[in-house]
Amino acid sequence: MDLQLAGKVVLVTGGSKGIGLGIVKSFLSEGAKVANVNRSAEDGRQLEVESAKRGQDCYFIQADLSDVSACQRAVDATVTRYGRLDVLVNNAGVNDGVGLDAGPDAFLASLQRNLLHVYAMAHYALPHLKQSQGCIINIGSKVSVTGQGGTSGYAASKGGLNALTREWALDLAQDGIRVNAVIPAEVWTPLYENWLDTMPDPLGTRRAIEDMIPFGQRFTTCEEIADTVVFVASPKSSHTTGQILFVDGGYTHFDRKYSAKQ
Ligand code: NAP
Repeated sequence: MDLQLAGKVVLVTGGSKGIGLGIVKSFLSEGAKVANVNRSAEDGRQLEVESAKRGQDCYFIQADLSDVSACQRAVDATVTRYGRLDVLVNNAGVNDGVGLDAGPDAFLASLQRNLLHVYAMAHYALPHLKQSQGCIINIGSKVSVTGQGGTSGYAASKGGLNALTREWALDLAQDGIRVNAVIPAEVWTPLYENWLDTMPDPLGTRRAIEDMIPFGQRFTTCEEIADTVVFVASPKSSHTTGQILFVDGGYTHFDRKYSAKQ
């Protein structure tokens, strides 16, 4: 299937690692040009160089998105380089464990790390997306619909992200801009692997998590999230908007009887 993404300009936040890296690679393999925003430079610059060797265009922008002015700079840098913007993927985020005990300042800082830049990026990208009749994809989390405990800031941010997805889908329908969210639950990334390695029994903990994932008893791969993002961003999804798509092997919506059996 030709996804008709060749030559399109895509801005991905947090595209140097994990799920974001998968998303960047998937867009590049479709012939899109990708701007990739991260705080740390090493991985992003390396990705830029390696992509160029393959004839792909992956432009690294260094910015901390919790600073709103950096969001504007990232959009401006993308449009200065490519002259347009077709797709915004709001992927950057961190489950920072800011719970009820952490207090209002820590809560606000968590919203800045996880939600404010989602709004700011969309705000600054809007004039360009209106011109291209482009689309926005927000990367959420199962925490938006299930309690996890101890992570109020992240849960509020991802819940807000789902709400904004539906809100903007309606706001922007008249401009021909589609807005959707893709929701991961348990995705195998280097960060996840590092976290498991801090457990007393990493393999046992991994198996216990996998046992709760109905489809295949395995983690979702970054590629599986990425390919869904790319498909939803493509003109082949031209009548899909305001959707919250769970790419999670059935984890989020399973019947509790399933985990009781494991
Ligand atoms: P990851 O491996 O930690 O990668 C996150 C990327 O975002 C990194 O490249 C990071 O780069 C960048 N980033 C984070 N905060 C940033 C900021 N303030 N400014 C600029 N760049 C920033 O995370 P991931 O697991 O792939 O997660 C990606 C998205 O999926 C997140 O929104 C997360 O909430 C969601 N998610 C993941 C899972 C999972 O199982 N992995 C589950 C549910 C939801 P720098 O550190 O260099 O800035």
